[in-house]
Amino acid sequence: MVENYNSMDLAAFKNVWVFCEQRQGKMMPTTFELISEGRKLADELGVNLCGLLLGDNVEGIAKELGGYGADEVIVCEHPLLKNYTTDAYAKVICDVISEMKPEAFLIGATNIGRDLGPRCAARLHTGLCADCTHLDVDMPIYKDFLRSASTLPEEKIEKMNTAKVMGQDHDVSRDLKMTRPAFGGNLMATIICPRFRPAMATVRPGVMKKAPFDQAKADAVKITKPSFTLSEADMDTEVVEVVKAAKKLVDLIGADYIVSVGRGISKDVEGGIKLAEELADVLGGVVGGSRVAIDSGWLTADHQVGQTGKTVHPKVYIALGISGSIQHKAGMSESECIIAVNKNETAPIFEIADYGICGDLFKVTPMLIEAFKAAKAAK
Ligand code: FAD
Repeated sequence: MVENYNSMDLAAFKNVWVFCEQRQGKMMPTTFELISEGRKLADELGVNLCGLLLGDNVEGIAKELGGYGADEVIVCEHPLLKNYTTDAYAKVICDVISEMKPEAFLIGATNIGRDLGPRCAARLHTGLCADCTHLDVDMPIYKDFLRSASTLPEEKIEKMNTAKVMGQDHDVSRDLKMTRPAFGGNLMATIICPRFRPAMATVRPGVMKKAPFDQAKADAVKITKPSFTLSEADMDTEVVEVVKAAKKLVDLIGADYIVSVGRGISKDVEGGIKLAEELADVLGGVVGGSRVAIDSGWLTADHQVGQTGKTVHPKVYIALGISGSIQHKAGMSESECIIAVNKNETAPIFEIADYGICGDLFKVTPMLIEAFKAAKAAK
């Protein structure tokens, strides 16, 4: 870290940065979502958007980030950065940040991001808001978000230009407003980091939308390679081998069609899952589940949709025997089309469903399978 680095010298910090997570030389999809979101924030602040890419021989994948909105990609290459280790990555990131001083730094809330973010924030002596689902800078845009997504009265929203910080009125217009679920998802909290920079956020994968790719912008992106030092003496860990999980995990975030099951299948779990798989197969989709389906051991954890599972926005989301708790809705309410099958006509899932079928899923699902098969055959 740079000597005399002062995270409270707010005026010294500029630009929005995104940690561009790659594994084995392949960019993680969440990186593109964060670059797209970072572009929006950088435009609101009137500054540049930089991707920060660490690895070994990774410059070749840097340009693509420009296509999603990065003005510049800062590439740090070193053989010791080939595989992720907390020590090496945190050291290089903190060295580069203390030298170049971005005002906001976004990291995907992946397993790596959740490990890396807090370590860097503590070392840089700044604040981090974990697991964000919404980000803003511009006050009018933030206020419009509050009007559409909160129950706050207009007088309160109008007065939100300042916040009390250490007993003083602080102008929040340039602060990153980081919104995340709190208290078990029963309310949303917006958090600012008014006294320190960079303002750091980890962001849930799948929440932010990826911008369309622009080849001309990819070609034009600036690549910067700052100098840094890294040696084995900086590291307490050594990666001996990378072993991939033997079982392929379900790709909920990338799926266009998801058929999810909940407690409603409990009277015949095997039969219920079989029906969901058959329906998903007909649609070319995958099976997901509510937390009950995961906690009961009916499906593995990678299938969970919701606040503590995955956030998805497929073309079609079919909920079979899922009540529609606030925590489940938090992960799927942005699906393009929601079809709910539930035998209770007052189930909250029907409030957000585009098509609601009130009935027993064991009777309705075979009919849906036949109907989709027939529609496909007719095409
Ligand atoms: P239930 O709420 O029990 O609903 C079952 C539904 O099935 C009912 O509506 C019933 O009418 C219907 N049904 C029953 N039989 C049939 C039938 N034969 N045919 C048709 N319909 C039928 N939950 C998540 O899903 N994802 C999360 O990420 C998540 N995170 C959480 C985080 C926290 C901090 C907390 C506190 C909770 C979280 N939960 C999460 C749990 C959540 O609160 C609910 O308990 C859960 O979503 C309920 O799952 P369900 O809809 O499958 O079950």
